[in-house]
Amino acid sequence: MITLQLKPKEHHRIAQGHLWVFRDELVTTPDLPAGTAVNVVTHEGLSLGTGLYNKLSKITVRMLGTTETNIDTKFFVERIRAAQALREQFLPNEEGYRVLFGESDLMSGLIIDRYRNTMVIQMLSAGMDVRKAEIIEAIQTVFPEVTGIVEKNQIATRKKEGLELVDGVVWGTVPETVQFTENGIKISVDLVTGQKTGYFLDQKINRQTAAAYSKNKRVLDCFCNVGGFALNAAAAGATLAVGIDSSEIAVANARKNAELNRLSNCEFIKANVFDYLREQAEAGETWDMVILDPPSFAKSRTAIRGAVGGYAELNRTAMKLLRPGGILITASCTQLVPEHDLMDIVYRESARLRVRLRLMHRGGQSPDHPVLLSMPETHYLKFLVFSVM
Ligand code: SAH
Repeated sequence: MITLQLKPKEHHRIAQGHLWVFRDELVTTPDLPAGTAVNVVTHEGLSLGTGLYNKLSKITVRMLGTTETNIDTKFFVERIRAAQALREQFLPNEEGYRVLFGESDLMSGLIIDRYRNTMVIQMLSAGMDVRKAEIIEAIQTVFPEVTGIVEKNQIATRKKEGLELVDGVVWGTVPETVQFTENGIKISVDLVTGQKTGYFLDQKINRQTAAAYSKNKRVLDCFCNVGGFALNAAAAGATLAVGIDSSEIAVANARKNAELNRLSNCEFIKANVFDYLREQAEAGETWDMVILDPPSFAKSRTAIRGAVGGYAELNRTAMKLLRPGGILITASCTQLVPEHDLMDIVYRESARLRVRLRLMHRGGQSPDHPVLLSMPETHYLKFLVFSVM
């Protein structure tokens, strides 16, 4: 295996368990095929383990562990099996879940989601992309019941790795829509047109939390996608749950999901949430619960200011709509905005409006999206529940 040497003192972060080696930390960056397995060593020549190399990417080596390992189908089988074993402990008999979550399963650049017997794979690095065949074979080995595998690789970050943006069935047969049960609710997702890998699996446990507060309440689910929170709230006895999303397809799917579950106490509206909330406030409308689950507002540091402004506006307008005793649920999947910053934003806006809030609950990603402590980059989802005094 080819050996790549780190510059003096550049090994500490890697030795402590971070998995990304950046270009300027390496002594040389030779012309090797994208995805080549390399052995990374300290400046003194001590091995730190095997990683996958891509000269084109700023994340030039993605470490896979601390030993020198052969990256073959057997390796993928072992890693996927270990990831699955963890999920079985915490989410037994789950039909829709993340089987493998990149860095958090020591597999930087690979995501595997499961919707019953259909698997969705995402390769965010060249190292994983060139091993598509091994990954597919390994999935078939670990999950003999799987009938189809689809790749959802229309992700902008792939460009940084020199990879094409492609979607499509890579093995077996994949139905146009896949139906699975989450939290006792039937969800039908369209793996071709759906966002992310089809569904936002990371909010699974948070949807249960929101449901627990929903009984006899009028619930406004902002950024509802295919209905996740609204459906959970409606099933838990909300008098009315209204979901808002700007995507026509998402709203149509949400309505379909409501029908599928025979829930007549929910409605879905295609609208821009920012406009909708403002109009509701102007009209003097009130709600018992407002859920805010916007998309990521900042992918880079330069966009953080804008993101903070976005969260401030959303939370401020949501608070105007809540009656005393109401519940504000605010989520953020912007990795670059940490929980204490989000809390600060909510506090500042509440203080401006002279609204007193109590923090009832804080959550994060569901346990099938674990956080690798040595890589803060793997912690992205924040979920806060406040009660209005
Ligand atoms: N709450 C959802 C996931 C939300 S993902 C769930 O539980 O599954 C974010 C959603 O916001 C996407 O569906 C996207 O279409 C929608 N969106 C993005 N910008 C929007 C805007 N300005 N107004 C309304 N919806 C928006």
